[in-house]
Amino acid sequence: PPPGEPVLVVRDLSVSFGEVKALAGVNLSVPSNGVLGVIGPNGAGKSTLVDIISGFLPQATGSVELDGRPLNGLSPTRRARAGLRRTFQQDRVPAGLTVGAYVRFVARRRLSSSEIDEALEFFGCPPAKTPLRRVDVGARRLVEVVGHLLARPKVLLLDEPAAGLPHEEHVALGLRLRQVPARFGVSVLLIEHDLDLVRSVCDTITVLDFGQVLASGPQAEVLANPDVLKAYMGE
Ligand code: ADP
Ligand code: MG
Repeated sequence: PPPGEPVLVVRDLSVSFGEVKALAGVNLSVPSNGVLGVIGPNGAGKSTLVDIISGFLPQATGSVELDGRPLNGLSPTRRARAGLRRTFQQDRVPAGLTVGAYVRFVARRRLSSSEIDEALEFFGCPPAKTPLRRVDVGARRLVEVVGHLLARPKVLLLDEPAAGLPHEEHVALGLRLRQVPARFGVSVLLIEHDLDLVRSVCDTITVLDFGQVLASGPQAEVLANPDVLKAYMGE
C-alpha cells in the first residue's frame, strides 16, 4: 500500500454465538509497516476478532480488506496465500520435530539455514537442532512466530504471543515485536491482555470491551482514557 495507508482494514464486523454478541460493529485498521495493538479484558472478543479476520468464522458479517483486496468468502488457506497469517492462543506444536524443522513446516516456503538461525536468535529461541519437546511452551510459541514471519506475509495476527512466557520476558518480547515491521517487512496485529507488553510495542491501539470498540488511537491517548482504565479495573 502507499505510505501511510493501512494494509489491513476491517469494517463493521459482527458475530453472535446464540445470545452472546461476541462482536458488534467493530472497525479497525493495521498501519502498513506498523503494529496495531488490540487490547481488552477477558471475553472482550479479541480471539473472535482474529478468527473472523483469518476466515475461521465465516458466518460473521462485515468486511476485511488486505492491501485493498476484499477477503470475504475466502477460506483460511486462501487468506494465508494472500498474505494474511495468524497464530493461535493455544499451543498447537507437533511434538516429534526439531525447532528448525518446525520453522520450515510453519513457513511452508524454501528457507536458508542462516535465515532460520538469525530469526531464531533474534527472538531468543533455542537453536534449530533442538528437539521441540525440550522447549518450554512459551518459547515454542515464539518458534511458531518465527516460522510465520519467514513466510513473509503482509500481515501477521498474533493472539497473545506472550502467553506461557514468564512475565519478566514480556517486555523483551515487546521490544522485538516492535522491530518486526522493519526487520521482516511484516505488519502486525497484536492481540494482547498484558498492558505492559502492548505499551512496549504499539504506537496505535484499539480497545475492545464487550465486543465493541471502546477507544482507538495513539497509545498515550488511549491508555489515558478513563473508560479504558475502568474496563481494566473491573477485572
Ligand atoms: P477474548 O479473546 O477477548 O478473551 P473471546 O473472543 O474468546 O474473548 O470471546 C468473546 C465472547 O464470545 C465471550 O463471551 C466468549 O464466551 C464468547 N465465545 C467465543 N467463542 C465462542 C464459541 N465458539 N461459542 C460460544 N461462545 C463463544
Ligand atoms: Mg482470547
